[in-house]
Amino acid sequence: MTDDRMTPRRKPKISIDTIGGRKLTPATLMMGHGFDPVLSEGSIKAPIFLTSTFVFENAAAGKRHFEGITGARPGGAEGLVYSRFNAPNQEILEGRLALWDGAEDALVFSSGMTAICALMLAYCAAGDVIVHSGPLYAASEGFVAKILSKFGVTYLDFPAGATRGEIDAILAQAKEQAAGQGGKLAMIYLESPANPTNALVDVEAVRDARGAAFGEDGPPIAIDNTFLGPLWQQPIRQGADIVVYSLTKYAGGHSDLVAGSVAGAKKWLTPVRMLRNMMGGICDPNTAWMLCRSLETLELRMSRAGENAAKVCAFLKAHPKVARLGYLGMIDDPRQQDIYNRHCSGAGSTFSVFIKGGEAESFRFLDNLKIAKLAVSLGGTETLASHPAAMTHLSVPQARKDRLGITDNLVRISIGIEDPDDLIADFEQALAAV
Ligand SMILES: *Cc1c(COP(=O)(O)O)cnc(C)c1O
Repeated sequence: MTDDRMTPRRKPKISIDTIGGRKLTPATLMMGHGFDPVLSEGSIKAPIFLTSTFVFENAAAGKRHFEGITGARPGGAEGLVYSRFNAPNQEILEGRLALWDGAEDALVFSSGMTAICALMLAYCAAGDVIVHSGPLYAASEGFVAKILSKFGVTYLDFPAGATRGEIDAILAQAKEQAAGQGGKLAMIYLESPANPTNALVDVEAVRDARGAAFGEDGPPIAIDNTFLGPLWQQPIRQGADIVVYSLTKYAGGHSDLVAGSVAGAKKWLTPVRMLRNMMGGICDPNTAWMLCRSLETLELRMSRAGENAAKVCAFLKAHPKVARLGYLGMIDDPRQQDIYNRHCSGAGSTFSVFIKGGEAESFRFLDNLKIAKLAVSLGGTETLASHPAAMTHLSVPQARKDRLGITDNLVRISIGIEDPDDLIADFEQALAAV
């Protein structure tokens, strides 16, 4: 029996990734990579495989597949087994997601937080230390501080804009702390740009600091790339090992699903895959199918949103009721600009606007928006606006809010793909009401 017949959907016959030596770009590959219509009645799109389990060709194939699932044989499963482990829609999605980041493989999850929690759990043991940049997405920070701490994992954090010297110092401190607890530095976990400040982490400096501190055998560098990825920033290029996403945001892009992923080299993903095999948390086939559909328009959507944001920010910057902007297209700090130039190919479409005044003025602005919807989240086709201090970051202690610059006049905006002049008209009338 040939491998092909035993594992048809895993080895598509048609998978054109190069033409005449030209490596095709993700924007092109999103329409077909990893799916062979011949295997599904000629269907141009992958059907949604609503099945919990897969029939083995024979008993020997079942044994071999389980060796891959349980880790008894390296390299992972070579066949479909059971939908908690792997399934066609999820595998097609994983293959396509990996392309955007130049990663070897990806794993999809039922939410961004499931991906982040599984990643950290897979790498941490009692006594270990996590070093992370700050601020992180509130639930990520909470998982480290409140959940992992229950299992004897401690953490150290450094501010997103930290210099090489500051990162060296925190790694040295982490080594010492880990030795004192009988553990190791398990992971360096980053989020860049940070929310809602948009402060960028110097991933290249983190990579160099790890190399200096650990040589070849350092802990993995993981990074939450939800705000700029995968179009405007691919942190594997700057030395990250594992890229994390809330696919709920730009990747899904229509505010109609919740999912997450991790991508990187197989050797980094294997422990995470093993944990997912045991624990579950893989995204469902319908969501995977919707994400494949979303990825076909990812570049179009993100490009348009980015162009819209640049126009809206140019308008807001000149407005007398706006104190300042936290937008990556208008950075005023030279070090941040240097990180941006080395790491990013676009400024994104999520930014902060500081209204002159305080909470009352910001609320008036928000309550008068007509096109922009008052909601948390980002990266959708529609423009959203929210007030971090009173919403997503309400539970952050005031002292930490002050340190992070999460003020009462900060409004966070995620620009969508509407007509930019309509959006400007909306912001103009809402500001007039302040
Ligand atoms: C939304 C978000 C998450 C969490 O993702 P969910 O899909 O909501 O679980 C994690 N990190 C960042 C930066 C996010 O914006």
